[in-house]
Amino acid sequence: MTSFIQAKTILSSLKAGTDTWFGLRYNMNLYRGCQHGCIYCDSRSKCYGIKNFSEIEVKENALELLEKELRSKRDKGTIGFGSMNDPYMPVEKELQLSRKALELIKKYRFPVHLITKSTLVLRDMDILKEISTTYAAVSITITTANDALSKKIEPGAPCSSERFEAVKTLNQNGIYCGILLMPVLPYLTDQPENIEEIVIRGKEAGAKYILAAMGMTLREGQREYYYKQLDLRFPGLAENYKVRYGHDYSCNAPNHSKLWQTFDSKCRENAMPQHMEFYQPIKPTQLNLFNA
Ligand code: SF4
Repeated sequence: MTSFIQAKTILSSLKAGTDTWFGLRYNMNLYRGCQHGCIYCDSRSKCYGIKNFSEIEVKENALELLEKELRSKRDKGTIGFGSMNDPYMPVEKELQLSRKALELIKKYRFPVHLITKSTLVLRDMDILKEISTTYAAVSITITTANDALSKKIEPGAPCSSERFEAVKTLNQNGIYCGILLMPVLPYLTDQPENIEEIVIRGKEAGAKYILAAMGMTLREGQREYYYKQLDLRFPGLAENYKVRYGHDYSCNAPNHSKLWQTFDSKCRENAMPQHMEFYQPIKPTQLNLFNA
């Protein structure tokens, strides 16, 4: 079910230099809730106050607000989409809110970074190519190389093979695109072979970077939902979590040191960067007084 709401603001600012993952200066969510239904989703945490996470609320005045805010921002830092939901979930196909937001970002010459699990991002390659003259980056999340498992843990998103294909198409079209290998789910996706395969297939797809985290986080609300889904899909597994992590927020995979070693050595073998390049504003060239 989809409903429409009015937002007060659309861009939230981050202090310059504080986002070490993506180099963001602003964050934006055009929707509330997400249709991809990943069983581990952090955005279900109680602290965010979203009651029915799978029922989408569309910020009806998002574009109006965005244009107003872009016009008034002096700091042309990177705008991130996709922290609380996927900007290319199914509802976007019809509403095209992400596409229209990209048009505005292009108009006001801001850099952009998108996180998605959906191949629908390919629809907007034309605009992303144009924004690339400033800076555009797309990070596609791939948590498992196994399509059947991806369908079980991320039931509403395209399967992993389709995501690798999207990485390939974006890079072939000159759009800076890499992979987010996170979260790594303890006892489910934490095999060294899985990490290896994602790096190798990422390389084959032309990924420009892979950012990884060898574990997951669990908070109130998110934890209960996750355990319920584990009981349904992987009976008995939730018990392992309860014993090992209790109420911990940070849940590293039990073999996380081994996974980091595997990741690091596979990335080195394949010349795969483990960090992405951030937007660098062009500094105005200084006048050379002697040549002036
Ligand atoms: S795509 Fe992201 S926001 Fe959407 S359900 Fe999955 S983890 Fe949550």
